[in-house]
Amino acid sequence: MDTPQVNDGMQPDSMVYKTLLESTRAIPWKIDWASMQFAYIGPQIEALLGWEQSSWVSVNDWAERMHEEDREWTVNYCVSQSQCGIDHEADYRALHRDGHFVWIRDVVHVVRKPDGQVDSLVGFMFDITERKRIEDKLIELQKELEELSFRDGLTGVANRRMFDSVLEDEWSKARRNQRPISLIMFDIDCFKQYNDHYGHVRGDDCLRRVAIALGSAATRPRDFFARYGGEEFVLVLPETDAQAALVIAERCRALLFKEQIEHAASSAGQIVTLSMGITTAMPRHGADSRGFVEQADRQLYLAKQRGRNCIVADAG
Ligand code: GH3
Ligand code: MG
Ligand code: MG
Repeated sequence: MDTPQVNDGMQPDSMVYKTLLESTRAIPWKIDWASMQFAYIGPQIEALLGWEQSSWVSVNDWAERMHEEDREWTVNYCVSQSQCGIDHEADYRALHRDGHFVWIRDVVHVVRKPDGQVDSLVGFMFDITERKRIEDKLIELQKELEELSFRDGLTGVANRRMFDSVLEDEWSKARRNQRPISLIMFDIDCFKQYNDHYGHVRGDDCLRRVAIALGSAATRPRDFFARYGGEEFVLVLPETDAQAALVIAERCRALLFKEQIEHAASSAGQIVTLSMGITTAMPRHGADSRGFVEQADRQLYLAKQRGRNCIVADAG
């Protein structure tokens, strides 16, 4: 920051600003876009992260002092947003000089030149460690609650517990009445790469969108859709033979295709796709539903082996 000129006993504006900036808990900084060097960083940085103010020279110092799991997506995200001239914010774990990590929220404003080119980035780093600790505690409590409930907290659809109970019920009915029952298992392709590329928050949004799209595919009252776990979903189709189940699986694929959820890091395409395994059975006396789920899982595994973004079905 410029050294202020003292004039007629009054504090010039820059002095006031400097005092204000350096007395807040948020840490101000500025990066020159052309050189990727820090033009300024508040002295408070040393109290927060242990590294001296003078040791923050280039963006590499910022990137290197970051948790390795956060580094790639944070740097990619901030660079791409800045290139597009979009103000943004990112949460990541910064490395303290003594080796522990501090959760930071970096709020970034892109300053442009009169011709529209990026001139510099200015921003504030906030210590959000305490907020993250409370969030983590809340997530943990929510998980405990979910285990006691039948609804998945993230997507709002039925959870695994509910699925187990509905499947058991439908399986018994199918066995008793000697009717066909089908099961579709879905697994999002390359979802780990989705999280790595876009971050977990967008990963969660993606899961919600996929759940909404797939949840609308089957329309009979007893059709039952649930989140099986992670990025896997299931659809129980009572009174449904193999041919009808395949039609519904194709409908699921079309519904998701319509969403056109971008997935630049996928090896299966440029948008989010699914692999599906279908199994159909006319349960025999004594057969249990576990083998039925395992059979759907085997078909799903084959779909992955066949290159993903495809449906593999059996005839029970
Ligand atoms: P494949 O095509 O073989 O299915 O690859 P994949 O990357 O989808 O499979 P993998 O099982 O290796 O990874 C699943 C990923 O799903 C890993 C995990 O971080 C992510 N995931 C699971 N649950 C959630 C969640 O609730 N939110 C987010 N954002 N990601 C999740
Ligand atoms: Mg999976
Ligand atoms: Mg997957």
